[in-house]
Amino acid sequence: MLPQGPPARRLLGAAALIGGVPSLALLALLLAGEVTVLPGLLALLAVAAAALALARIWLGSLGRLSDAMRRAEAGEAELPEIPGPPLLPSVAEIAEGVRRLARSQRERAELVVRLRRADEAIVEKLPDPLVVLDAAGQELRANAAARLLFGTAAGGGDLAALRRHPALAEALDAALADAAPRQVDVSLPVPVARELLVHVIPMEPPLADGGRVVLLLSDRTRDRAVERMRVDFVANASHELRTPLASLIGFIETLRGPAQGDAEAQARFLGIMAEQSERMRRLIDDLLGLSRIEITEHQPPTGRVDLGLLAASEAAAMAPILAGRAVTLESALAEGAVAAPADAGQLAQVVRNLLENAVRYGRDGGTVRLSVARAEPGGRWPSRPGVVLAVADDGPGIARHHLPRLTERFYRVDRGRARHAGGTGLGLAIVKHVVNRHRGQLAIESEEGAGAAFLVWLPAEG
Ligand code: ADP
Repeated sequence: MLPQGPPARRLLGAAALIGGVPSLALLALLLAGEVTVLPGLLALLAVAAAALALARIWLGSLGRLSDAMRRAEAGEAELPEIPGPPLLPSVAEIAEGVRRLARSQRERAELVVRLRRADEAIVEKLPDPLVVLDAAGQELRANAAARLLFGTAAGGGDLAALRRHPALAEALDAALADAAPRQVDVSLPVPVARELLVHVIPMEPPLADGGRVVLLLSDRTRDRAVERMRVDFVANASHELRTPLASLIGFIETLRGPAQGDAEAQARFLGIMAEQSERMRRLIDDLLGLSRIEITEHQPPTGRVDLGLLAASEAAAMAPILAGRAVTLESALAEGAVAAPADAGQLAQVVRNLLENAVRYGRDGGTVRLSVARAEPGGRWPSRPGVVLAVADDGPGIARHHLPRLTERFYRVDRGRARHAGGTGLGLAIVKHVVNRHRGQLAIESEEGAGAAFLVWLPAEG
């Protein structure tokens, strides 16, 4: 701001600037003899001294002013008063102006920092996963939801796989080129299959941290799975109904045609037709039952059910079916094990479905154990009071990899066998939904060759 140089030279230069013209004028007057020598010389000395003194004050003021400006430029927190008199009045005004300017600049800088922090906090807390990229497509930051989605700290492997995805890379390039947002569906097969809808939003002008693109991710994995399940369900349900229907139509045609006069064939075919109609009836009953339970699933039941009594009466009603396969029933039913809130009709269906399965898929002449007990606190069940219903058989059991899917509609371990045994493929789906409605838990334990056990925990009166 001030010309650099040794202070003495600067002082002399400034003094010459101030006192140069009057001194020269005096000198000229002296030489011309217009002024007497002694007073002329004294006046010349006085002018030089005054010029030097003024130059000192001037340079000192300007020096301190330029120091204050440097400190303001460096963003110093509080500028001190420019110290020490004497200050030229105009310099004092400028100095005050610099102080005010520095203060407002500092306040503005603080505001920017605060706004940026608020900005980052909003992005961080947004429930939707969000990733900010720079112009080269490199990640600058990922908010908490994105880190959760990818299960890693920012920059984790999954996120890198997402950025490399060809569809996304193409959308990124295009969005950067024309500054228009777009959306793209991305499926990531590994490590967990994921389907994402990615909104690619170019930022023009760029964000404060240099972010040029924001990726807004919506995890569609669950939605797509539900969509697929719904489509599968309709296809499965119509397929399950179509098979017995086709067989009925076939037999009716045979009875009207080739088998018209054959009493023995007629009796046999009518038997099969009765079986197929019964299968259709069961299927429709289960489908309707399942949709009724689904409709009420979000409303907890309101009654209370003595689970031991309920299990005893359902077991008694099933005595003929158990006898049909020479199955022995061993019961251990605690008294006063009351599930609440509970729906007696739905819990009876749970007991029925589990007992039917134990007989259907158990061993001929085997043993089925039915038990109801108060849940032991701690261990696998919730710590609240609860009751546990268990149905176990000593049949061939179920391979481990089938267990997680057993409660899906129409999921069967052995299709042919299950259908032949009269199952609809909906029994365990119904159990699962009833347990969900009761805010209970279902556990399935089985190993191939070692039988299967189905355990249902239900909340109990405290
Ligand atoms: P289904 O009407 O076919 O019995 P479920 O939903 O009740 O349908 O059961 C689904 C599948 O789970 C059955 O097809 C069967 O393969 C298997 N399963 C159920 N219970 C048992 C069991 N106690 N032992 C072995 N397999 C079982």
